Amino acid sequence: MSHEELRARLQKKLSELTSRVEKVEGDLRRTRNPLEKDWSEAAVTLQNDEVLEGIDEEIATEIQQLHAAIVAIDEGKYGTCEACLKPIANERLEALPQATLCIDCARRQG
Ligand SMILES: [Zn+2]
Repeated sequence: MSHEELRARLQKKLSELTSRVEKVEGDLRRTRNPLEKDWSEAAVTLQNDEVLEGIDEEIATEIQQLHAAIVAIDEGKYGTCEACLKPIANERLEALPQATLCIDCARRQG
């Protein structure tokens, strides 16, 4: 698989995640908008927000990684291990396009 194809894949995943974040943010706004009638309802709303914010953070990290990989492709730096500077195996990039470590270094870091 060429870097071109991997870039298209990364881009697709990135837009999927971006629309998911937009949906989550829409949900957050919806749960915050209605005025809580009593304390128990307010507590439920708060719990929901915490769950949504937890998901949001995970997705945000992945978006960051995907974006970094796309930038690396554009700059011609893609597919090089950050730790040992050797090329990352193509099979690994196909399985995990946002990988920044080769399989050996990833294993070493556990
Ligand atoms: Zn390495």
